[in-house]
Amino acid sequence: MAGKRRLVSAPGRLVAAKPRLVSKPKVAEQIYQSPEWRALREARRKDADYHCVVCGSKHRLILDHIIEIRDGGPKFEPKNTQWLCRVHHGLKTEAAKRTRAGLVG
Ligand SMILES: [Zn+2]
Repeated sequence: MAGKRRLVSAPGRLVAAKPRLVSKPKVAEQIYQSPEWRALREARRKDADYHCVVCGSKHRLILDHIIEIRDGGPKFEPKNTQWLCRVHHGLKTEAAKRTRAGLVG
């Protein structure tokens, strides 16, 4: 008799399905909040190469990992960092994504 109650309690499971288009590993993001990274970045600002290595711009630079962390690059090694402007950082990140996906960058 009581066996027909199962259908009643089926709370909407569809609601929980959030879009997960870009899923960066959280590990990489935490690095940029860390004291080690901030200290490295501050120190690198005083270096002679404080300009975009591609175009020479000094406007809103991003300290880039030459070999990305997710590709095995060392996190806090100054030699694995370079300054890039936003445009060229975006292009490099895009190219690395394509390479990773097996496409020709
Ligand atoms: Zn640039």
